[in-house]
Amino acid sequence: MSNSPITRYPGQGVDVTWDKRLCIHVGECGGAQGDLFVAGREPWCEPDVTTAAEVAEVCERCPSGALAYQVKDGSIAEKPAPRNTVHVTCHGPLFVRAAREWWLRHPWTC
Ligand code: SF4
Repeated sequence: MSNSPITRYPGQGVDVTWDKRLCIHVGECGGAQGDLFVAGREPWCEPDVTTAAEVAEVCERCPSGALAYQVKDGSIAEKPAPRNTVHVTCHGPLFVRAAREWWLRHPWTC
């Protein structure tokens, strides 16, 4: 078993990755229609059960950025948000969408 925090779910046309360090377990993925993500199934994510467009749409709904996808033929690619936004929720977390990469340290790992 890998010690990597990132789990890869390969498919024929699209691969999905899940970063457990970022997931906040709000279940946006599991609540999506269809069988792309099924709790308790192994593997949890099966990219081949639906279209690449549906995989992209569901992954882009992930509020934490824990889910990412790569369409192998390049026909669909994740685009940065058209403008930077920060949504503040009561007692956190902050939901940030921005066209840049950054790494925030969790306060409990500093
Ligand atoms: S939608 Fe994203 S943050 Fe929510 S449970 Fe799924 S992977 Fe985790």
